[in-house]
Amino acid sequence: MRNFVTASGKAIGSIGQGTWYLGEHPQTFQEEASALRAGIEAGMNLLDTAEMYGDGAAEILVGAAIQGYQRDSLYLVSKVYPWNAGGKQLQKSCEDSLRRMHTDYLDLYLLHWRGSTPLSETVAGMERLRAQGKIRAWGVSNLDTEDMEELFRAGGQDCRTDQVLYHLGSRGIEVDLLPWLQEHGVPVMAYCPLAQAGRLRRGLIAHPAVQAIARGHSATPSQVLLAFLLARPGVIPIPRTGNRAHTLENAAAAEVRLTASELQALDQAFPAPQHKVPLDMQ
Ligand code: NAP
Repeated sequence: MRNFVTASGKAIGSIGQGTWYLGEHPQTFQEEASALRAGIEAGMNLLDTAEMYGDGAAEILVGAAIQGYQRDSLYLVSKVYPWNAGGKQLQKSCEDSLRRMHTDYLDLYLLHWRGSTPLSETVAGMERLRAQGKIRAWGVSNLDTEDMEELFRAGGQDCRTDQVLYHLGSRGIEVDLLPWLQEHGVPVMAYCPLAQAGRLRRGLIAHPAVQAIARGHSATPSQVLLAFLLARPGVIPIPRTGNRAHTLENAAAAEVRLTASELQALDQAFPAPQHKVPLDMQ
């Protein structure tokens, strides 16, 4: 697994693990925890969760899955609801997440999406949590270019990621958000990198170009979708699976290097838009 080194010097695998919809059912809890552990052992040490997911159930799953690992070998990310992203609620949300995850700090804490709390208030609250050692860094999610510019004007230059929807079939961020983030040194966490197993874009997985490239690498179409994102500097995909075999398959995608002509074939099959489009969201 190739490593990505954060601003604070911690090495994280080039692919992370999502947790939306995981941890919600007692009958699959152990299997999902085992899938996350298999991912950690395969180098996917970034675990992405949120207070929203299953009302804290995904954070509880992460807390269970990480037992026995050195805390500093992991990179834990959680997110706060926009209506909790200021004042005392931000402090409480963070502490509740820490308790559910059985840890005493988050590596990265994200504003899940923009709500009515002023960005300057969220920045101030995040900086307070950082000063208390409850989080190591903070970032945002679902912010488009204008929001990012406003965030920086509001004193938010220490934002360490913008987590946005990005997959081969949804490339709107390539028009201006991705270049802006790359220029400002803000890594992108690509959510729904598998287009939710193709559900968000019909015909993606079965497309002849994706299938042919997969065959050429003895890889799967899912691995091609991840390799497409890995070919972009500063982009970390965070696929989610509760299935151990899929976890290992996703981790192995880090070894799939697409050639320039394969990337061109994917460009032709799924071109990025020519003009600004609204940020795609889930
Ligand atoms: P995703 O990762 O694109 O797709 C997940 C789906 O793909 C699941 O149905 C999973 O099923 C399947 N899958 C995973 N690996 C596979 C493989 N190797 N082969 C075949 N199928 C595979 O979608 P997502 O969960 O929506 O997005 C990923 C993560 O991003 C989330 O879990 C969450 O952490 C984050 N996210 C953030 C936001 C935000 O607003 N910030 C929004 C959405 C998501 P199996 O379990 O059967 O493998």
